[in-house]
This record gives sequence, structure tokens and C-alpha cells, in this order.
Amino acid sequence: MAGIPARKLNNMNNPYEHAVTQLKLVAEKLRPQYEDKSRFDNAISLLSKPTQLLADKLTIIMDDGSTESFEAYRSQHSNARGPYKGGIRFHPDVSEEEVKALSMWMSWKTAVADIPYGGAKGGIIVDPKKLSSRELQRLSRAYVRFLGTNVGPWIDVPAPDVNTTPEIMAWMANEYEKITSDRTKVVVTGKSIKNEGSLGRISATGRGGREVLLQTYKKYFDKPASQITVAIQGFGNVGSQLARLLDQSGFKVIALAEVQGGIWHSDGLDIDRTLQATIQKEILKKTCYCKGKQCHLTKCHFVGPKNILSQDVDILAPAALENQITKENAHQIKAKLILEMANGAITPEAEKILLKKGKIIIPDVLANSGGVVVSYFEWLQNLNNEHWEKALVYQKLNKIMRRAYKNVDETAKKYKTDLRTASYIVALKNLEKKL
Ligand code: NAD
Repeated sequence: MAGIPARKLNNMNNPYEHAVTQLKLVAEKLRPQYEDKSRFDNAISLLSKPTQLLADKLTIIMDDGSTESFEAYRSQHSNARGPYKGGIRFHPDVSEEEVKALSMWMSWKTAVADIPYGGAKGGIIVDPKKLSSRELQRLSRAYVRFLGTNVGPWIDVPAPDVNTTPEIMAWMANEYEKITSDRTKVVVTGKSIKNEGSLGRISATGRGGREVLLQTYKKYFDKPASQITVAIQGFGNVGSQLARLLDQSGFKVIALAEVQGGIWHSDGLDIDRTLQATIQKEILKKTCYCKGKQCHLTKCHFVGPKNILSQDVDILAPAALENQITKENAHQIKAKLILEMANGAITPEAEKILLKKGKIIIPDVLANSGGVVVSYFEWLQNLNNEHWEKALVYQKLNKIMRRAYKNVDETAKKYKTDLRTASYIVALKNLEKKL
């Protein structure tokens, strides 16, 4: 039986085209500075595509004895600054183009954070909810056999992404051990604590996003955090942790949405109770927990998954998937600041519209880099046989996020440009000299 066919992408929803467009725009800005133009052009040409793209059909035996094949990819974009690094996504919408774009963004992300990694990304076209746990395990192990010696602690270190869990990472580490006899588990990050994972990984991406926001918001809002309203699209790992941490920092999270729908309450949502209740995501369209003494359930509204983006809030954090803010809906965005937690959530056409309207965009390569930073900490701990306390992980993470933000902010001022272009300038300068 065949798996899910690869989806067809056009120019509008092709994330790889978006990634290349973004790169070319920044290259044009930087080019005048370089004396050796031909060297610079060659570097940009090298960075416009992955170094290696692995692709295959993985066939596994299903529980009923039949066989099924799934398309699998690993795009290794650049290892100029260190081993390839990037997540593995299990999703029906995975495509070769998406994986290529995500691998490129990983190279920029590790370069902006200035950690010694390159960029990669992998994925399988599959709806994991339709597989049993045993089938999922067979598929995860088949994926590692497909990668073979193209991964390794000093070659390419995969991590979890959408729909891949610490349990899946543990299966992958175990399969790698079978192939290579390497028992260190350093080949993947995002492992559970009992499998040599790092404390603080679960909240790392949300925590990094919050740290960047804490550095920026006072510049753009003339009011305390308690009066700054936030809407978040996607209540998975990143969205839920960000909601929890922003709530802890006193921001007023008033709207959350999942695929099936979302909730909105002007007094602010009770994130802890919502989180506890959201083991089944449908809860977001059925139950709404609000906050404080003034909380009236009558003021609770249920919002459609698309409407979440156009809520009247100060900060919008898309934390679901790419291509959510497009030229079709960019005009409807009311938030002044967009914290792009999901990779590629804003298309380049949408970004132009938003910037023209004076919106502040904290781009994905900066906003969501906390995840890869703590992955780096996990790798370091594994290599040195160390186990860091949570407080140490948070302290080191926040320090790297503050440094990355400062660097990007100063670059934005120097080049009189937006934060995404500035992030790319930082990344390109960091990468180009290593090529
Ligand atoms: P996740 O699967 O845990 O969560 C994503 C959530 O978004 C899911 O609950 C899904 O149901 C929901 N969703 C999908 N489409 C939606 C829509 N149209 N409207 C509302 N909700 C929708 O994945 P995650 O790990 O939280 O990752 C989210 C994004 O952040 C992805 O773009 C991922 O690449 C990026 N990211 C994640 C990490 C990490 O550490 N997990 C690190 C960096 C970047």
C-alpha cells in the first residue's frame, strides 16, 4: 500500500522559494561591502541550496501484516560551522521543498545564536496519529537505517520537531547504536531525561522566545507587561510553553488556538488550567478558563483557527506551522509585534505588507532558537558525561538569547533595517567566512 503522496507546491506556498528569496535580498544588501565579489557570489550560491539531500521511500510492516511506504527526507544544508543540526518532522504536509527550506533556516539559526553547528532538517510524509505505537517505532527505526552513516555525533545530529517526541528520539538513538555500536546516544538530542536528555529542553524554545521578547517589548510598548495582550496560534510544545512563560512574566495571554478552534477572554486566560485540560486539544473549542477576580465566563469567546491571527492584541505569536501569515491575511493583522515562533510562519510577501504597516517582526531564526541552543547543551553534556541543573541550563540559555538579540538589534540599527534582515546579515557574515 502507498503512503501519503507528496503535496504539490506552487510559488506562493513553496517555503524553499521563500528561503532563497530571503537569502538573495540580504545578499544584495551585503554585497557592496565585499571587495572580492566573485568569492561572495560563490558563497551565496553555495548557501542557496543544501549540500546534500537524502530521499527514499521507507517500507514498513503494518500491524495487520500489510506493508506501507512513506516518503522520507533529510536535507543537510551547511556544515561549515559544525555538524549539521536540525529536527525531524512527521507530518502529512512534509515535502522535499519544505525540508530544504527548514534546513537552510537552521543554518541561519545556529549562526545567529553563534553555536558551533550547521543546519539540517528531516521529515517523513506521514500522519503519525494514524499509526499504532509499534508502527511508529518501526518507521522511526527505518528512518535511522535510511540515514545510516550520514548522521553521527560529529556529522549530523537530528532532534525532534513537529510530531516527534523524546520517545521517538530514544528509538532512533537505539537504532543508531545497533548500526554503529555507539552507545553514547549523542547522535540525537531532545531525548528524555532517563535517556540522557537535558533538563530544560521541553520549555527551551518558548523560554528563548520569551527572553527575546523581554529584551524588546519595552522599546515598543509604553505600558507594563500586565497590560500587554497576547494571542498564540498553536498550543503544542512551543505554543503552550510560551503561553505559560509569558503568563509567568505577567503578560496577558488572552487568546489561544489549535487546529480545531480556539478561546479568547479579555481578562486573560488561565494558562495552567488550560494546559492541564488540553491533553486532548479539542478542549480549546469547548472549555475556556479565564483569570483573576474579574473573570466572567460570559466574556469567553470561541475563535476559529484562522481568526486567531487577526485578534485585536498587542503581540501575536504564530507557533504552529509555516505559511500562516500570507499576503491574503497580512492586512488583517492587528498586533503591533509578531513573535514568529513557528519556522516560516510569515511569507516574504506578507512580511513586506506588515513592515510597511510598521509592525515589528521578531523572526523565527531568532525567536525560536532556544530549542537548538538547549539541544547544543544536551550534546555538550552527553559528550562530557555531565548533567547540568535546570537553573544552569536556563541561565546559559538566557545568556545566549540575550547575546543573539543584542547582536541582531545592533545590526538592525547599523544597517537601518528590520530584525529578519539583520538576523540574516549576522548569520551570513558568520557563515560566509567559514566557507
Ligand atoms: P507541536 O506539534 O508540538 O505543536 C504544533 C501545534 O500547532 C499542534 O498542536 C497543532 O495541532 C497546532 N496547529 C497546526 N496547525 C494549526 C493551525 N492552523 N492553527 C492552530 N494550531 C495549529 O510542534 P512544536 O514543536 O510546538 O512546533 C511548532 C513550530 O515551532 C514548528 O514550526 C516548529 O518547526 C517550530 N519549532 C519548534 C521547536 C521545538 O523545540 N519544538 C524549535 C524550533 C522551532
